[in-house]
Amino acid sequence: MTLPSRPPGAGSPSLPEATPANLFPSTPSGQPARLNRRAFLTGALAGPAALAVSPVGRAAEPGLNTDPGYIGPAYFDEAERRALLEVWETASPFRYWGPGRPRQVQAFEEAFARYMGVRFALGVTSGTAALDCAMAALGIGPGDEVIVPAYTWWSDYTCVVQAGALPVFAEMDRSLTLDPEDVARKITPRTRAIIAVHLLGGPCDLDRLLAVARARGVAVVEDCAQCVGGSYRGRKLGSLGDVGIYSFQINKTITAGEGGAVVTNDPRLYERAVRFHDVGLYRPLFEQRTGGAREPMFAGENFRMSEPTGAVLGAQLGKLDRMVADLRGHAAALYAGLHGLPGLRLRHQPDPAGDIGYGAFFEVTDRATRDRCVAELRRRRVPASPPTGSVFLPAEEAVIAKRARHPAWPSFQTPEGRAMRYGADTCPQTAGLLDRFVQVRVGPKFTERVDRYLVECLREVCGTLG
Ligand SMILES: *Cc1c(COP(=O)(O)O)cnc(C)c1O
Repeated sequence: MTLPSRPPGAGSPSLPEATPANLFPSTPSGQPARLNRRAFLTGALAGPAALAVSPVGRAAEPGLNTDPGYIGPAYFDEAERRALLEVWETASPFRYWGPGRPRQVQAFEEAFARYMGVRFALGVTSGTAALDCAMAALGIGPGDEVIVPAYTWWSDYTCVVQAGALPVFAEMDRSLTLDPEDVARKITPRTRAIIAVHLLGGPCDLDRLLAVARARGVAVVEDCAQCVGGSYRGRKLGSLGDVGIYSFQINKTITAGEGGAVVTNDPRLYERAVRFHDVGLYRPLFEQRTGGAREPMFAGENFRMSEPTGAVLGAQLGKLDRMVADLRGHAAALYAGLHGLPGLRLRHQPDPAGDIGYGAFFEVTDRATRDRCVAELRRRRVPASPPTGSVFLPAEEAVIAKRARHPAWPSFQTPEGRAMRYGADTCPQTAGLLDRFVQVRVGPKFTERVDRYLVECLREVCGTLG
């Protein structure tokens, strides 16, 4: 059997096309097809959907749907329909004006801020746009450095480059999120921000990351795209750093297909994010929220959220607690089943109670064992894989080549930018973890019978690892 050569993130974030429903971000389009991926897909490891067609072994148990599916769309009902109908009936799909009185995006922002426990929320077109707003809010630009996890989604890298700043990668640890010790090592006098990404449903070690950042006068952006509804020590993710961002793309939790949000407690940061998202303008609604404008206008983009998006998200937000509770129940069942098995170590969880239960994650001794384990699990229709949905960025060709939209782009023209070396070997700890980790997804609508079946398979396959 041919398996993808390491690192798994190199060009092919694990197995995107195989199991789109298992991934956080959409499959990146325009990526060159990789031979190793094709070999991978035609080998024994096909996605759960493919295996459902021709089940093997234990998978012969009929009627069990082990495909995790998509989270938010599994909860679509009358609420989304009614909200969308209101937009349609009032013929007012634009947030600021129209023939009717548009109110969906505004209402969503206010409900989202309340839910997250922050003063201000801004709806935008995507999580990527939200990150660009966060960089603009913090005034990050040429000559600045931003620390980004080596394993995360592209947007955490592209927002830094789009700002003209230099991305500096830090290792992840056994939490599959930023290693605070490596972050401390990577801070220089030029570091302006750390993007703390709560990855694969699990919060980062915010106590340590915030302490490291505060001690050095560095801002913290919380990227909660893969952890919407998660918390850290009782506070909602996104509310602890200087700025929080979220994605509502279909592979996350609540969704309108696309969408994003920026939150903060700081009126100046909010104003700059708002201005950047709306060509530099600060409209009356926002002046009311922050008690007037404080910041001068500057050139921005148009990342305004539409009313249909706000309508769907408003309805979805009312179900977020239920989604998270459902996911947590299934993930807890899998973790309970894995507990005490020899030869594997469960993912480190900086705050297990705050994890949204995207799946169960564990580490085995080496790459060959991991690949065998994943193959055996998938043969039984268990939605297992290496970690998915992100990219091992320092190993990516476009990153190594420091390619931006223009050859003279400022990110890589400073002495530090010129001296910067990327490559898989610059983050060996992350590469090693990506080789050894197994991810088992859960679906929000799994039944107890599915949970029991998955645990049975996990104990059967993983029980022999030690
Ligand atoms: C999906 C994702 C984003 C970007 O969100 P989009 O809405 O797809 O632009 C950013 N960061 C992380 C960690 C993500 O998973």
